[in-house]
Amino acid sequence: GIGRLADENNWGAYLVGGFVRDLLLGVPNLDLDIVVVGSAPKLAEKLSAEFGGNVRVHEKFNTATVHLPSDIKVDFATARKEFYEYPAALPTIEETNLREDLYRRDFTVNALAICLNRDEFGLLIDFFCGYSDLEEQRIRLLHNLSFIEDPTRILRAVRFEQRYQFQLEPQTAHVLSNAVAEEALKNISPDRVWNELKLIFAENDPVKSLRRLAELGIWPQIIPGLEWKNSIQESLNKVIPVITAVADITGVSLERWLVFLTVILRETDETSAVAWLDQLSITKEQRSSLKRCLEEDSAAMLQDLETPGPGELHKLLKDCSPLGMALILLFIKGQVEQNVYQYFRLRTRLPQLLKMDGKVLGKMGIEPGPVYGKVLFALEAAVLEGKVETVQDQQRFVR
Ligand code: ATP
Repeated sequence: GIGRLADENNWGAYLVGGFVRDLLLGVPNLDLDIVVVGSAPKLAEKLSAEFGGNVRVHEKFNTATVHLPSDIKVDFATARKEFYEYPAALPTIEETNLREDLYRRDFTVNALAICLNRDEFGLLIDFFCGYSDLEEQRIRLLHNLSFIEDPTRILRAVRFEQRYQFQLEPQTAHVLSNAVAEEALKNISPDRVWNELKLIFAENDPVKSLRRLAELGIWPQIIPGLEWKNSIQESLNKVIPVITAVADITGVSLERWLVFLTVILRETDETSAVAWLDQLSITKEQRSSLKRCLEEDSAAMLQDLETPGPGELHKLLKDCSPLGMALILLFIKGQVEQNVYQYFRLRTRLPQLLKMDGKVLGKMGIEPGPVYGKVLFALEAAVLEGKVETVQDQQRFVR
């Protein structure tokens, strides 16, 4: 449909970027990037008029995004189209404009295009040998100044390298280490770095990229004051399993980046961590929960207990939030870890196990008041210990 709509206006339309890369690799991708040699906003509007969905136009950049009803997102960008007197010159001009657009991209594997116009539908356009780099599994820059021009590409190189298990092509690796030596990442705002970091946290296996950033000596430029010790690796490996466990136990899905960032910032001296956090565009709530996470140290408090039973743990952890739970599970080690897991699991069954509530206490003739809370709390601890199971046992316990 896109090619036909472009043909009607005599525009060129090309699929580019990550979609083409993933198509050639056989990896699913629902985000389409289209370069229009013509008008991106107008083509986007035509597409949505015919196929439905929402259009969002960014006049300033001459771009537009269509969210199709089928969950597919299509980004349209305009490549300059110049009009010459002689129509015969058009195809060459069009090619030059597409080439220019692709040359501004990050890596050769992201600079491939597929023509959508009818005459050349499906033609792979490969100005920079991106196809052979895909075959040879290489991440290669388009030019040597690329990392200096846009240092976020340093993080993108690591993300793609680790995602596809590709190699940095030797010259690219060399240019990257020079850019790191020149501390190029310090020249851009923490927010731009943060946007790329979030993309890393959203990868299937972010830990590979996080480790690679350490190996390349990139971390101190991202978060000043961060010392990457080997022990961090163990906690990072636990992040995704812990988030899954917390979701199973509480039904709450914690945001991945929040947990990853906590683990990383805990290795940073506190003043630097807070100063860095203060520069990010995150919500007030996110900032304050991160700061709380940095201060929180329940795991250490539990670490010294020998084999605490669920009743004892209930006294310490009754009001623990899902995020607090994640922090404990992340940082606790050894024998106690099993006990804590067991307690959290048991705790979710409390509503079924507990046969009493305020109403029952009232019926038993106990005067309502603060005592209810204390009695029920003591009862919960006893129930978790498996000491009082039946209604009769629980009533006897209360008496
Ligand atoms: P992903 O699968 O992670 O979404 P993607 O390649 O689609 O990967 P996007 O961040 O959506 O990544 O970017 C789309 C395209 O825009 C890229 O393929 C690349 O061609 C180009 N691009 C994105 N960021 C940059 C950048 N910082 N410098 C140059 N080109 C970029």
